[in-house]
Amino acid sequence: MSKSRRIFLQEAALVAGALGLGPAAWARFTRSANPSAKVHPFDIPTPEATTPAMVSTWNHGMLANDAGFEALRSGGNALDMIEAGALLVESDAEGLSVGVGGLPDRDGHVTLDACIMDHTGNAGSVCFVQGIEHPLSLARHVMENTPHVMLSGAGAEQYARELGIPTRELLTPKAEKAWNKWREESNYAPVINRENHDTIGLLALDDQGRLAGGCTTSGVAYKMHGRVGDSPIIGAGLYVDGEFGGATATGLGEAVMRTVGSFLVVELMRNGASPQEACEEAVHRIMKRMPTDDLQVGYLDLGKNGGVGAHAIHGGFNYAHHHGTQSALIDATHG
Ligand code: ASP
Repeated sequence: MSKSRRIFLQEAALVAGALGLGPAAWARFTRSANPSAKVHPFDIPTPEATTPAMVSTWNHGMLANDAGFEALRSGGNALDMIEAGALLVESDAEGLSVGVGGLPDRDGHVTLDACIMDHTGNAGSVCFVQGIEHPLSLARHVMENTPHVMLSGAGAEQYARELGIPTRELLTPKAEKAWNKWREESNYAPVINRENHDTIGLLALDDQGRLAGGCTTSGVAYKMHGRVGDSPIIGAGLYVDGEFGGATATGLGEAVMRTVGSFLVVELMRNGASPQEACEEAVHRIMKRMPTDDLQVGYLDLGKNGGVGAHAIHGGFNYAHHHGTQSALIDATHG
């Protein structure tokens, strides 16, 4: 959080206390009285302009990056690039791992996690939300228009209703069919398998050198009801440091959370590692500590100067890289 926002929140809390406002009233107070939401430090350009770039996990990252660059061309910044890419993938009912069409938990509920972060350290997150097509946009609202970083479950859904965001059925016939098949074969056991987790993690560097990142997912398929993975956890599924770079994770969230993976990647870059070295070291930390036969984790990062790294425990992890004129789908290294 920027210093000015922290001070604003401290002052707002003091004023709220003095006025005898309860938490709900305080939230309304801070939203309506928060002028800094309009003069966001994000909008202050950094001194050096850079070549914009965007990287996003998995095949769906290609279209997400295109949408991100379209947002940039329309005058948007790095956060807009992230949101535009996420919106597209969240609405794709064919994808089984993000937004509409995501595979449900073992009880048949599609529950979504997402977060967003900018180069100033501002962050917003929602987890365990149901019936909301665009959790990443909701996370952006949490970041920009509330005094909080993370809202969960019914509280996040209530906030979405307050914003006038319509609810939507997220379980598609295709996902329901897959779930029914899983129930027959799994005997309803809460097994976490390492397939079907293709979270989209996105990192963007705009033409003003501002970095932003986002992560949005339906989480591991057939998880226990209430399970939240790494994707909405700042530092685990996503971390951005405007001075050094950003990182995002995909794969089994429990392993990423136990090692605070994305923060680790960025911290390694801060200490001089290249983007590729940082991803490799973060993967190796997991491999040293945990049995990895049935465990996949992949990291993707984007350095402040546009350098990219990606590494996974096993083969099969790929990412899309767009840097203005060129766009490519690249296999990450592994092992
Ligand atoms: N990391 C996500 C989770 O554990 C899964 C994924 O990468 O698709 O919820």
